[in-house]
Amino acid sequence: MSEADYLIVGQGLAGSVLACLLAMRNRKFIIIDDAHASAASKSAAGIINPITGKRLNRPLLIDEMLQSAFEFYPQAERLLGHRFFYSRKVLRLLQSVEEQRCWARRLATGEYRRYVADQIPSCSIKGYEFGGFEIGMAAQLDVPKFLDSARDYFIAANSLVERRFEYSDIKFCSNGVQWCEFRSPVLVFCEGYKLKKNPFFGGIEMNPAKGEMLTFRSCSFADDRIVQRGKWIFRNQDGLIKAGTTYSWDLLDEMPTALGRAEILKGLEEFADFRFEIVGQTAGVRPVVRADNRPVVGSHPEHRALAILNGLGSKGALQAPCAADQLVDHLENGKPIRPEFDVCRNLVWKQRVNA
Ligand SMILES: Cc1cc2nc3c(=O)[nH]c(=O)nc-3n(C[C@H](O)[C@H](O)[C@H](O)COP(=O)(O)OP(=O)(O)OC[C@H]3O[C@@H](n4cnc5c(N)ncnc54)[C@H](O)[C@@H]3O)c2cc1C
Repeated sequence: MSEADYLIVGQGLAGSVLACLLAMRNRKFIIIDDAHASAASKSAAGIINPITGKRLNRPLLIDEMLQSAFEFYPQAERLLGHRFFYSRKVLRLLQSVEEQRCWARRLATGEYRRYVADQIPSCSIKGYEFGGFEIGMAAQLDVPKFLDSARDYFIAANSLVERRFEYSDIKFCSNGVQWCEFRSPVLVFCEGYKLKKNPFFGGIEMNPAKGEMLTFRSCSFADDRIVQRGKWIFRNQDGLIKAGTTYSWDLLDEMPTALGRAEILKGLEEFADFRFEIVGQTAGVRPVVRADNRPVVGSHPEHRALAILNGLGSKGALQAPCAADQLVDHLENGKPIRPEFDVCRNLVWKQRVNA
């Protein structure tokens, strides 16, 4: 029997961030993953942006999350010995008079100025008819590279088991859980949208959203910012151009579609004026919590040896470090999870499990 401080199911963004935090604390963990059979993280653009959506909102706990992300990823780069995190600017182009007004209201509160790099007085680029602004406090995580670097590190440390995790193989024992040849006081589930198959946390109501992304080769896209106007586009560190994304809720799988490609290309016509060749298309399913689209973090209300880190939605790169930090503090020091993320918050469960 092999003993560990933690068992983790899933080596997507959630599982990898959690495992890196544990490695930084010299904890012994085993991470079980089915070779990324359903990893949304493999298709993620990794954009970290404090001002999002048509209503130009700031996500809940934004300052705390930005701080965690800007601290964690450089530490993870040192741990894993690779670069995958880049401070970048976002050029946000406004799409309508309503958005212009909304942005003027947001700016007037004074709360948004610290995220903004420059107001652009005039701009000749396509799609600037309603104006725009630059977000300075933004970044991009090369998520596939982070995952690959973490995977190599976990393999070298003998911490990765590449296998499908069968829930029926869990056995509860007096000091934790046993799964196959592994035993640990805590098992943390990080399976992304496959959470619905989990017999312990499957009562959390999810509304997963499929998303697609295109990869281009182009010599004529010179902007070094992430440019956003409904859709987004940016040059990756490898020189390829990434563009996305879509949201659909019907066919939840990892298959790219002609419809997804057409939607992204149509959106780009509004603001991207360059020649390109499509060299790739990927799809993934974002794990979204139906009630409030916030992460679910913490211990199971009945089975205290089981915990969860999920619900990262469309902001996995931004939310994962802060959420994982809270989970580690909770499991190691008994600190309560923030109510906004706590898996025990009533409204996320289809049927409330008795505490
Ligand atoms: C097209 C697209 C673009 C996106 N862009 C951004 C972006 O710009 N910024 C951002 O922050 N977020 C973005 N996201 C969202 C981001 O991808 C997710 O929030 C994040 O990847 C979720 O990570 P996760 O670890 O929870 O799930 P996943 O990445 O899905 O990882 C779960 C892992 O668990 C494994 N697994 C599941 N069940 C089992 C089992 N029974 N046994 C073994 N292994 C199992 C899976 O195969 C997978 O490897 C995007 C998503 C998509 C689809």
